Amino acid sequence: MKENIFNKTREELESYFESIGEKKFKALQVYEWLYEKREFNIDNFSNIKKEIRDKLKNDFNTDMISMEKKQEDDLVKKYLFKLNDGEYIEAVVMHHDYGSSICVSSEVGCNMACKFCESGRQKKVRNLEAYEIVEQILVIERDLQIRLSSVVIMGIGEPLDNYENIIKFIKIINDPKGIAIGARHITLSTCGLVPKIYELAELSLQINLAISLHASNNELRNKLMPVNKVYNLDNLLEAIKDYLQRTGRRVTIEYVMLDNVNDSKENALELAKLFKGMNIYVNLIPYNETNHLEFKRSSKNKIMTFYDTLKKSGINCTIRREFGSNIDAACGQLRGKNI
Ligand code: SAH
Repeated sequence: MKENIFNKTREELESYFESIGEKKFKALQVYEWLYEKREFNIDNFSNIKKEIRDKLKNDFNTDMISMEKKQEDDLVKKYLFKLNDGEYIEAVVMHHDYGSSICVSSEVGCNMACKFCESGRQKKVRNLEAYEIVEQILVIERDLQIRLSSVVIMGIGEPLDNYENIIKFIKIINDPKGIAIGARHITLSTCGLVPKIYELAELSLQINLAISLHASNNELRNKLMPVNKVYNLDNLLEAIKDYLQRTGRRVTIEYVMLDNVNDSKENALELAKLFKGMNIYVNLIPYNETNHLEFKRSSKNKIMTFYDTLKKSGINCTIRREFGSNIDAACGQLRGKNI
């Protein structure tokens, strides 16, 4: 069966060319067509001779995921895509002063079943292939006629539960001859699959790691995030320490503010104690309420008190600016309406 060409890292394409008795620099030429010139028709790769183009066409396709729906306001654009097997995924673009960022999905559905999360209700159907994540970027850049400046892997799915494909995706977009998004402009967010955090640390990529913590003790985290029953806070903290030590990169701790669930001053103090002295910062996320789930967003006051308490305890902290709650941009909401 033909493979999608956007599934190939440059190295893999080099091996491919070598395997068919060609020079490996042809991989660079193909990359320039695809990612610099955005020419997706192999017939038009004019510096590659016809015989090799035919061989390429025989071995690869350049099929794109299709854009089914777009919801937008000035700052946010939300896309629903249909995959070639009929499954749906979504991606969101946010415009900032410094450029535009995209939030990509990593799986069709998600198995992590976090209680407050819309995607958690949807069960994983399958992993996304690397090309299906790369193409979220390509299709959107073509649609908006812009180049995106940063990528967050924070859409539907648990990226570390689709590890191989995610690493491949990161290599392809980070390649200076690929989409050329700098590692420091790529953020991977995980609910805490501990063994994979250790594996990721070994790769020493310069990407940003964000950990969805959302609770300050095991009892609470067990209730909100089933993953904590497998890898508890102690295991997770050890993995984060190892990651910090190996990569020297600051880690982001995400904490979604759920009214009367995890937003008390005691929670803030407990959280501060866990991370005292570590090279992390806490990103407080105002909860996006969804119809199906009973959780409510913490009040502005409570969020501010939580923030102040963390700061006073010596923890760096920010409050996430809100995007897209009026266009169902909260994780999984658009897909949820369409399946
Ligand atoms: N599985 C990964 C990435 C996808 S979820 C992870 O858990 O990090 C991306 C982030 O959005 C996570 O921090 C998740 O907990 C949070 N999230 C999920 N539902 C949300 C909602 N309704 N409002 C705000 N944040 C939410």
